[in-house]
Amino acid sequence: MSGAGVETAAGRYRAAHLHQPAGWLSPGYLEIDTAGMIAAVHADQPRTWETADVRRLDGYVLPGMANLHSHAHQRGLAGKGEGGSGAPGGENFWTWRAQMYAFVERLSPEDVEAIAAQAYVEMLKAGFTTVGEFHYLHQDQNGEPYANPAELSERILSAADATGIALTLLPVLYTRGGIDKPPSHEQRRFVHRDVGSFAQLVEHLLMGVAGNPLWHVGVAPHSLRAVSADDLAAIRAITDRHPGMSVHTHIAEQMGEVEECVARLGMRPIAWLLAHADVDEQWTLIHATHGTSEELDAVAASGATVGLCPMTEANLGDGIFPLRDYHGRGGGWGIGTDSNVAISLVDELRLLDYGQRLIHRRRDALPVTEHGETRQPGRLLFDTALAGGARSLAQPIGAIRPGMRADLVELDPDAVPLLGHRPETVLDGWMFASSAPIARNVMVGGAWVVREGHHMREREILERFRAVVSRD
Ligand SMILES: [Zn+2]
Repeated sequence: MSGAGVETAAGRYRAAHLHQPAGWLSPGYLEIDTAGMIAAVHADQPRTWETADVRRLDGYVLPGMANLHSHAHQRGLAGKGEGGSGAPGGENFWTWRAQMYAFVERLSPEDVEAIAAQAYVEMLKAGFTTVGEFHYLHQDQNGEPYANPAELSERILSAADATGIALTLLPVLYTRGGIDKPPSHEQRRFVHRDVGSFAQLVEHLLMGVAGNPLWHVGVAPHSLRAVSADDLAAIRAITDRHPGMSVHTHIAEQMGEVEECVARLGMRPIAWLLAHADVDEQWTLIHATHGTSEELDAVAASGATVGLCPMTEANLGDGIFPLRDYHGRGGGWGIGTDSNVAISLVDELRLLDYGQRLIHRRRDALPVTEHGETRQPGRLLFDTALAGGARSLAQPIGAIRPGMRADLVELDPDAVPLLGHRPETVLDGWMFASSAPIARNVMVGGAWVVREGHHMREREILERFRAVVSRD
């Protein structure tokens, strides 16, 4: 990583409050090595440390959160796909999708990079330090491969490089327009002519990210609408060659999709997937909104992660995932910003929690499952999403302990929503009482990328974004 103009931060730190898997250290001492990894965590300042060498972080220091599901280019459409489709039945997911298709038709490689960089700056400032980019734009405006078939994937990598965010790039396999339907003209930029060319793209990207500790590559069969059983077998051949690779898929987001699946395949989508793919902890099922309790029991037992994107699911009118029941069965989950209609870690978690409060008409949205131990809701939401995101993106993140990457978010201790809190409740303050970003400093892989609330390159990145979205 070179492009972010970042400040390297190897060394020794005293954090006023350091998030730990089992609580907090107040203060906590932290050592970051030159590879950007956490070398040591101490409850007391080691005798061998010279106090003059110890840098101070006066806020609440948290592990960076994974944003496990993003379509970065959709940031350019945010707030602009609200109504106006003129569809006779009114506005719904499918009318939004038509607007999104019209938007992506026009995007050049430079546009994709400019929009993605803006989205990634906003993610970093929100407290996300790693993003899972579910990247389905592959072909040129005529639906033909670029001279470099990885052109648009590499634009995503360039945007990540310019911002310093860590990335699990998930190139998407998309071969058809619906179950047994050819792709439509509007889908031409998403489609690979054959699975072999997709497999070549994945191998090319794997070589391209080798040696960059912030970058991983996974695979993403788009959805059961867009891939067949044979395509899933081809995905399996790729993941067999690369053990531990993340596999992400959209599933059961809309009732229209569930109905199509039942009508054409004779099963609901999650049940069909579980019957036709070896779903395990490498897998992330994005949305799973309309899973039945039997399906979600099986997902929980598989070790897979459910990727919840509450703001997008609300914006698109998808429905509400039965999180209270699923979490109570020990199911793993994480969060994503998906369409990037708004980019906010706390808004995602807050909406997730409030949806459950509204449905169940109680305030403890998630049940206490661990040894009867009570945890504050902000902490429970944050920690569960941390663990799910780390597993989903297959990166060494999600906790501040030796061997993990130094991805840190320092919350401003003087932010109004945090005043008067003890460390035990401070995440409730962030989650439920804040409406402005309060991540003061953000580090990824041992390099500061946000300082005093500002990203190092936010101005130039914003200007490029402005030029793209201001164009007719
Ligand atoms: Zn998505």
